[in-house]
Amino acid sequence: MAGLPTLGEFTEFFTTQFETYLPELERTDQVPDELIKAAAALGAFRLTIPREYGGLGLHVRDYLPYLEAAAMGPGAARMLVHVANGLWRPLLQFGTPAQRAIVQGMAEGSQRITFALTERGAGTGRDIETRAVRDGDGWRLTGEKHLITFADKVDYFIVIAATDDRKASDSVTAFLVPRDVEGFDIDLSQRTMGLAGTAHAFLTFTGAYVDDSARLGEVGQGLDVAFSFLDYSRLSLAACMVGMGRRALAETAAYTERRVTFGKAIARRQAIQMHIADMETDIAAGAALVRSVVDLIDAGESFTADAATAKLYCLKMIGRVTDHALQAHGGYGFTTDAAIERIYRDARGFWFEEGTAEVQQLVVARHVLQREAAARVGSS
Ligand SMILES: Cc1cc2nc3c(=O)[nH]c(=O)nc-3n(C[C@H](O)[C@H](O)[C@H](O)COP(=O)(O)OP(=O)(O)OC[C@H]3O[C@@H](n4cnc5c(N)ncnc54)[C@H](O)[C@@H]3O)c2cc1C
Repeated sequence: MAGLPTLGEFTEFFTTQFETYLPELERTDQVPDELIKAAAALGAFRLTIPREYGGLGLHVRDYLPYLEAAAMGPGAARMLVHVANGLWRPLLQFGTPAQRAIVQGMAEGSQRITFALTERGAGTGRDIETRAVRDGDGWRLTGEKHLITFADKVDYFIVIAATDDRKASDSVTAFLVPRDVEGFDIDLSQRTMGLAGTAHAFLTFTGAYVDDSARLGEVGQGLDVAFSFLDYSRLSLAACMVGMGRRALAETAAYTERRVTFGKAIARRQAIQMHIADMETDIAAGAALVRSVVDLIDAGESFTADAATAKLYCLKMIGRVTDHALQAHGGYGFTTDAAIERIYRDARGFWFEEGTAEVQQLVVARHVLQREAAARVGSS
């Protein structure tokens, strides 16, 4: 089994070897098998997975620098690392022994899973329309999902569906659905503005039958499954934005040193230095927020609102940072020859993944209002 790679090896892999595949990723929207195997050999998918399942068992504090490093490369890189190092959590927390055994394969990179909640015709959460109806010893799934990441190659989908089961206090249930089930269609034609290689897809279930052993967690526990990894995920995405911000800053520093106008590198102009200083400040603030959430985790405290705060700040940060970076590149930055053009597009995805900016605002505002109300009661 591969040991822990150094951060230098990790950064080098994702910003050079992985990045040379960018034209292919843009053309096919899929990560080729040899690249996934190389990432697996590096240990990229086993970083946080517990040791008893073949992982390296890194604590979040030690893991996030690796994720930041992956996020300095193409968007598909950080997504591969993020998904593998996050989605084992619901399997271990809610899975049967057979479902838990899949985690070993995830660590090796031989088994991959993704999460399928979002629908075009319904709201993300309790509002979903995909249904699972009992049929003998199993369930029949009917409905549609979209925007499902890495649907090209994953072996299983964690599908969240409404269950017609009156025993459930809440009729939303999760299923671990293999990709080769009859009545389950995967349409890879959905293309995204950025994150080339992430193979987003439409899923259609037309009475697809799964055995009850495919159920992940109890009937009615679907939203618990969906939310069980969300806090870690949001923190992880915040760390990704810090990594991507650092890459945007490095590109900007290098380009503005190279680009000479009126006899001077533009990096020597105060106008450009102001862009650079604002980028640095914003990235540093995002990184500090990420660290503060890690401190809470270390202290064993709840970090739901803090992870949402970090994600909310960082998505606005990465918007500002990539905007500064593009501006400092001049018109060249708007061309596909410039790395910043790809980074700028990739950055926009963060505003939707795992809860929109508005959803983060709702989580944070709810927390603040509860905290302040409690403080008023305490002081009265
Ligand atoms: C790169 C990328 C990867 C993704 N990967 C996956 C994946 O693997 N699996 C998966 O299931 N999904 C995935 N998604 C989908 C993502 O989770 C959703 O796009 C996101 O949750 C928002 O849902 P929606 O697109 O249906 O937006 P909508 O719900 O249509 O929202 C539209 C707008 O209305 C606002 N809004 C909606 N409802 C409310 C409300 N109640 N209160 C206030 N504002 C509201 C939203 O904030 C948004 O601004 C991915 C998305 C992207 C961009």
